[in-house]
Amino acid sequence: MNFIARRAAAVPPSGIRTYFDIARTMPDAINLSLGQPDFEVPEPIKQAAIDAIRANRNGYSPSAGIDALRAAISERLAREFPGWNPTILITCGVSGGLHLALAASLDAGDEVIFGDPYFVSYPDVVRLMDGVPVPVELNQRFTADTDRFAAAIAPRTKAILLNSPSNPTGVVYDRACIRGIAELAVQRGLLVISDEIYNTLTYDGPAPSPVSFAPENTLLLRGFGKSYAVTGWRLAYAAGPKALIEQMVKVQQYTYVCAPHMAQVAGVTALSTDMSAQVNAYRRKRDLVVEELGAAFELVRPSGGFYVFPRVPAKYADANAFVEAAIQRKVIVIPGQVFSQRNDHFRLSYAVPDDRLRQGCQILAGLAH
Ligand code: PMP
Repeated sequence: MNFIARRAAAVPPSGIRTYFDIARTMPDAINLSLGQPDFEVPEPIKQAAIDAIRANRNGYSPSAGIDALRAAISERLAREFPGWNPTILITCGVSGGLHLALAASLDAGDEVIFGDPYFVSYPDVVRLMDGVPVPVELNQRFTADTDRFAAAIAPRTKAILLNSPSNPTGVVYDRACIRGIAELAVQRGLLVISDEIYNTLTYDGPAPSPVSFAPENTLLLRGFGKSYAVTGWRLAYAAGPKALIEQMVKVQQYTYVCAPHMAQVAGVTALSTDMSAQVNAYRRKRDLVVEELGAAFELVRPSGGFYVFPRVPAKYADANAFVEAAIQRKVIVIPGQVFSQRNDHFRLSYAVPDDRLRQGCQILAGLAH
């Protein structure tokens, strides 16, 4: 007997899980594979969640989210994007937001364009919604060439999925790049889904958003997980066109129902918490990584998030061979094929304490020679 749908069977398990499993069996290894911040959740944010539980905010919330959090987000977005008036939905992580966005916008066979390298879930979450993923190779700076994206547009193209700052490269797309893609979307009548989960973690100035250039075409996805180290709280939001958000709310009613209520209450506190010390610490980690790896590897200097995506030295057959050598030296990084159709880079996460990070980088640099 086979109870499994083709839709589910067709998607592989997340490639990152393999490395989580390896890390579990090697507790003394330097683990540079993790996609979550290593800083503590600030005490007032923790306390707000505890208080919310004590105040009996434990039941369902409205499906779109609690008014206080939606209003606080709305106020911030109005300051950042004057004149933009999006509808706001609180989602269960950016993953939840992405799922709802695709469920609400894709008909079977619709195509979604995104840059390669990409966040690990993009191809398969599109497939799970019966869409067709269309990865487009990014340029040498790991940013999007408008011409390449334009060439990938076909009659069934529905959306362009952008991710800046990027996982796995840490690259922030500049204004010209974002403007080019946004204008292309307007010309061709496409939705831009802008995954800005790392928008607060930028080190060389803020990351431009397609909202500034295509406000009517953009669905913005942002989260709390990476900004405040609460990845397990499953808290994020979508902001965009009313008609699309209304459909997403309907899908949320039948799936996630609502984002965790006490996390939403604490989210209001989070939004007014100063995280500049943590951002500064991550800027220093970025500098440390570039300093330690820059001579040994060809790499694009990252400006956001907490990843770098160096090229694997030519003496290795592919990224798997390099990652195997690293794991033998007790440093865990992830081969590029998890994020790309190519396998000649590796992803390093620098969301670890400085001494471990330095040690890990030195071991990796030693493998390059
Ligand atoms: N998008 C990107 C680019 C990410 O890196 C991640 C998390 N690693 C997500 C989405 C999913 O985030 P969340 O935990 O909020 O679902």
